[in-house]
Amino acid sequence: MNRIMTVLLDGKKVAGELEAHIREVVAKSSRKLTLVIIQIGDKEESSVYIKQKKKFGERVGIEVDHVMIPEDVSMDEALLTIAKQNENEDVLGIILQLPIPKHLDSSALIDAISLQKDVDGMTARSVKALVEGKSGMVPATTRGILALLEHYKIEVSGKRVLVVGRSTLVGRPTALALITAGATVTVAHRATRDLVEEVKRADIVITAIGAPKFFDSSYFREGQVVIDVGINRQDGVLVGDVDFEGVQNLVASITPVPGGVGPMTVASLFLNLIDTINK
Ligand code: NAD
Repeated sequence: MNRIMTVLLDGKKVAGELEAHIREVVAKSSRKLTLVIIQIGDKEESSVYIKQKKKFGERVGIEVDHVMIPEDVSMDEALLTIAKQNENEDVLGIILQLPIPKHLDSSALIDAISLQKDVDGMTARSVKALVEGKSGMVPATTRGILALLEHYKIEVSGKRVLVVGRSTLVGRPTALALITAGATVTVAHRATRDLVEEVKRADIVITAIGAPKFFDSSYFREGQVVIDVGINRQDGVLVGDVDFEGVQNLVASITPVPGGVGPMTVASLFLNLIDTINK
């Protein structure tokens, strides 16, 4: 049997190029540029993502201001914190780090972020624009996936794309953006009956379920493009939703984990941010 040379979709490398572009844009700007991350409570899992964003900000010359609010904050106080950041002209973008404590209304807090500063693309108006296929702020993971496909000249228009996972943060916005890009999109999730068949039918498979190495080689066939969004810890090692080693030399191309969608997501968040400079 001929062994296929699977192409590595190197998110780390492409994100590095985006980073250089962002650094240039920042250097040309005379404004002070700040990204504010509001964290309510101190969930350990959030800290890792916040650290990554801080580091990226330092490298490109954007200040990342981490605002921590106590877990028991009232809705009024939380809204006030967001309002203050909306008014601050140095602040280009505001992120409300999720999850937030259950006693707070997360939709109301997200919608309190002004549209121009909604770099996570999570406010109702950004989501509406995405649903309608209009230009607007797209969530960073979705933008990162599209940018990676574009970099490797992988056409999505007319292709069968399967998105596995229907979360608000990843699966749904990615499916919507792909519809606009001309793909024929299927969304699979926990209730999907024959997942193997769905995966096999697709030209491009995007996995975002959060289960370590769930998709082994039995799911795939030759010629497919695999975008693995999953970030899972297994025996102390970061792995994706796809058994990367198992599908090497079978599929046409695949993103590694780490080093695939992760770095593209961070870079895309900052692309969203610099898009707001002249708005
Ligand atoms: P989530 O838990 O909110 O959603 C998971 C989705 O997967 C759900 O819709 C569920 O129905 C579906 N699902 C779960 N198990 C399934 C199964 N066995 N078969 C079919 N569908 C199944 O998770 P999320 O926030 O969308 O994140 C998904 C993964 O992506 C996680 O590993 C997360 O860490 C990772 N993630 C990565 C990035 C990145 O930048 N690379 C960004 C965000 C999230």
